[in-house]
Amino acid sequence: MKAEIIAVGTELLLGQIVNTNAQYIAQGCAGIGLNVYYQTVVGDNRERIRQAFTLAAERADVVIVTGGLGPTQDDLTKDALSELLGLPISIHGPSMEKIEAVFRDRGLEMVKSNERQANVLEGSDPLPNDNGLAVGIGLTKDGTHYVLLPGPPKEMKPMFDKQAIPWIRAAMGEDASPLYSKMLKFAGIGESSLEHRLIDLIEVQEDPTIAPYAKEGEVSIRLTTRATSEEEAERKLAATEREIRARVGEYVYADRDVPIEHELVAILTASGKTLALAESCTGGMVSEMVTAVQGSSAAYRGGIVCYTNEAKRELLGVPAELLEGEDAPGAISAQTAVLLAEQALERLGADYALSVTGVAGPGESEGKPVGLVYVGIAVRGKSAQSAKLQLSGNRESVRLKAAKQAFYLLWQ
Ligand code: ATP
Ligand code: MG
Repeated sequence: MKAEIIAVGTELLLGQIVNTNAQYIAQGCAGIGLNVYYQTVVGDNRERIRQAFTLAAERADVVIVTGGLGPTQDDLTKDALSELLGLPISIHGPSMEKIEAVFRDRGLEMVKSNERQANVLEGSDPLPNDNGLAVGIGLTKDGTHYVLLPGPPKEMKPMFDKQAIPWIRAAMGEDASPLYSKMLKFAGIGESSLEHRLIDLIEVQEDPTIAPYAKEGEVSIRLTTRATSEEEAERKLAATEREIRARVGEYVYADRDVPIEHELVAILTASGKTLALAESCTGGMVSEMVTAVQGSSAAYRGGIVCYTNEAKRELLGVPAELLEGEDAPGAISAQTAVLLAEQALERLGADYALSVTGVAGPGESEGKPVGLVYVGIAVRGKSAQSAKLQLSGNRESVRLKAAKQAFYLLWQ
């Protein structure tokens, strides 16, 4: 089945708002195996909305529309569809009662135009709106399935998830075989090299589908399958997971959607161990990520942000000879990373310590290239080690990847 998303609104055409609705809906469609072939944006103009519908009906089976369900004269979506399909508009009783009740409770007089928000088309299924007044619509006519949703994202998103998705799936005739999915989370490997190592699987695999994606320094794979029972789904997902793990299993840190720092805090807490940090180029970001995990106080002793060379000397006793001077390794070096980790371990009395020192950019530092980062790893009772990373991206991205990689190195 093919889908088209139509966002209605002159504000979108003028660039005053970003079409986040289309992004949200497109992701939701991918999740149910519905392929989006087109996305359209059209202004608040009855004739052009009708043209957009006509074109969409020719090239898509499912047409999902947002915006223009409000009470004002420029809210024309339902009128345009009614005109195109020759289906009269009527008022949906329960929605009307709800609108009247809202006005009564607020002590406001209801204007005639508010009735428009209870409009439905003959033969359509009303899609209730729990966060606003405009009722949505699901309607099948001449083999095309139309879904009309309001524009405001806080109304649209829950309606899409709770009302539209089940309606679309029923329309697709697939309620008998629901979708099951599973996430695999990766660290220590980039999206492109992960994809490269799995490309033949990704390309031939139709069920389960294998969809890699990267966000905020993390790489994930979502496996999705259609199955008639949970057992069947588990079996199919497990078989594909085995194939993936056989190739890149060493980078899998979780088989559910959880950030690596959560896993790490859980492991530390379970084993009664503690962590300390010394951060230079990440400036406290690693600490922020650890403390964002609920219950991290059991596993996290604290961290030191030592950004300048003076701070590295004064707060963590890194000798000047190591940091400055012609032949000195410098602040961005394996030696400094090791020392920072050792000192954080000692001074904060932890079982493990991580340090991060590197060049986040945009310019180079100590004559070293942007993206060069050293992570120090100290473990009580063992000699500290370091890892050298060459990360890509802008300043934010280098810092985020450095933090995630540091967690990965410790997790290993
Ligand atoms: P209302 O009852 O608020 O008028 P509506 O269904 O008529 O709702 P619009 O008038 O088209 O929707 O849009 C209302 C608001 O919703 C816009 O001002 C904008 O803030 C937001 N919005 C509309 N369309 C989108 C979109 N495609 N992506 C993100 N936000 C949107
Ligand atoms: Mg409106």
